[in-house]
Amino acid sequence: MNYDYLIAGAGFAGCVLAERLASILNKKVLLVERRDHIAGNAYDYYDDNGVLIHKYGAHIFHTNHEDVWQYVNKFSQWNNYKHKVLVSVDGKLVTIPINLNTVNTLLNKRFNEAQLIEYFNSVRSVDLEIKNSRDVIVSQVGEYLYELIFKNYTFKHWGVYPEDLMPEVTRRIPVRFNDNEVYFSDIHQGLPVEGYTKLFKRMLENKNITILVNTDFKDAERIFKFKHLIFTGAIDYFFDYIHGRLPYRSLRFEFERHNRQYFQEAAVVNYPNDHVFTRIIEAKHMTQQVCPVTTIAREYPTNEGEPFYPMPMTYAHDIYRKYELEAMKLNGVYFVGRLAEYRYYDMDMVIKRALDVFKVIAGA
Ligand SMILES: Cc1cc2nc3c(=O)[nH]c(=O)nc-3n(C[C@H](O)[C@H](O)[C@H](O)COP(=O)(O)OP(=O)(O)OC[C@H]3O[C@@H](n4cnc5c(N)ncnc54)[C@H](O)[C@@H]3O)c2cc1C
Repeated sequence: MNYDYLIAGAGFAGCVLAERLASILNKKVLLVERRDHIAGNAYDYYDDNGVLIHKYGAHIFHTNHEDVWQYVNKFSQWNNYKHKVLVSVDGKLVTIPINLNTVNTLLNKRFNEAQLIEYFNSVRSVDLEIKNSRDVIVSQVGEYLYELIFKNYTFKHWGVYPEDLMPEVTRRIPVRFNDNEVYFSDIHQGLPVEGYTKLFKRMLENKNITILVNTDFKDAERIFKFKHLIFTGAIDYFFDYIHGRLPYRSLRFEFERHNRQYFQEAAVVNYPNDHVFTRIIEAKHMTQQVCPVTTIAREYPTNEGEPFYPMPMTYAHDIYRKYELEAMKLNGVYFVGRLAEYRYYDMDMVIKRALDVFKVIAGA
C-alpha cells in the first residue's frame, strides 16, 4: 500500500492533521505512534478502581480561539469544569493565581481590591528590568510572596531556580486583585465528557487512516512507502542527535486509591515548600465522574522518562535553532508540535498550529 502521508506521533498535532488530510483532502494516511496508545500526552483511561485518570498529568482544555473550539466540538461534548488550583503554604490552603483571598489569608489582612493594589505597589520592584522568571514575579507581588509560593516550587519543578529560567515561564501566571478563583481566563474551558482518548478515537474513525501503535517512525520509514512526512516526535531524535540532545524535564506519577468520594478540595494542590513531590492531582474534580472511590496522583519532577517540558533556558533554544536550520533544508517534511518544534504548546495552541499547517498543505 502506498500512503500519501506518513504521520509520526498520535498526539493532537499528528491526529488533527491525520483527520483533516483524510476527511477533507481524501488522502491516505499512515499514523504511527511509538507508545501503545493514541492521544499523546492527553491520554486518559479507566484505572483498576474504575476511575478515569490522566496518565500524563492533569489536562484541562481552555481556549479563546473560536475555530479551535468549533473543531474539538465536532468530536465530543464538553463539561463545564473551571480549573481551580490551591497551594499549601504555612499549613494554609490558598488560591493560585494569587488573588485577594490569597493575600488576606497569608498576611492575615482584610484588604479590599484598592488596598491590595496599594500593598503590591509598596512591595513590588517597579523599575526592575525583566530578565528571568524571578523578575516577573517580584515585579508584580514582591519578594515575600515570591519566596513563599514560587521559588521552591519552580526549583522542584525545573531543577533550577527561577533566576535561570526565561521570563515566559512565570509570565503565564496572572495576578488577580479580586476574589476570582478560576485558574484560566479563557472563554471556553472544560474537559471532554467521555474523556480525551474517546475524542481521539472519533477523530481517527476514517477509512483513509491506518493507525499503528508500538511503532517508531524510523522503523515505519524503512518499511512503508509514502509521499510526504509529518513528524511530531522529538526533532533531535529525527536528526540522530547530530547537534547534541535537547534537554527536557519529565514527571514521575505515583497513583494512589482512596476509598472515599474525594481526597482533596480541588483538582490540583501544590506543595511548594514541603515534600519531594510538587503537587497532588485528583482527576475526578475535572472529569466530574460520579463514583464512590477516587484516585490521586503525586507528581515527582525528574530528568528521566518521557520528554514533557522543553527546558525554558537560552542554551537549550540555541541547540534547537541548529535543528530548525536542518529542518528548513528538507522538502515535503513538516515538523509540528511540542517535541518537533521544541516549545511548550497548550492543547488549543497545538491544535491551532496543526490547523494552520493543514491550510498551508491544502493551499488555502
Ligand atoms: C504534565 C502536563 C500537563 C499538561 N496540561 C495541560 C493542560 O492542562 N492544558 C493544556 O492545554 N495543555 C496541557 N499540556 C500540554 C499538552 O500535553 C500538549 O499541548 C500536547 O500534548 C501537545 O500535542 P503534541 O501532539 O504536540 O505532543 P504529544 O501529545 O506529546 O504527542 C506526540 C506523540 O508523538 C509520539 N512520538 C514521539 N516520537 C515518536 C517516534 N519517533 N515515532 C512515533 N511516535 C513518536 C509520542 O509518543 C507522542 O504520543 C500538558 C502537558 C504536560 C506534559
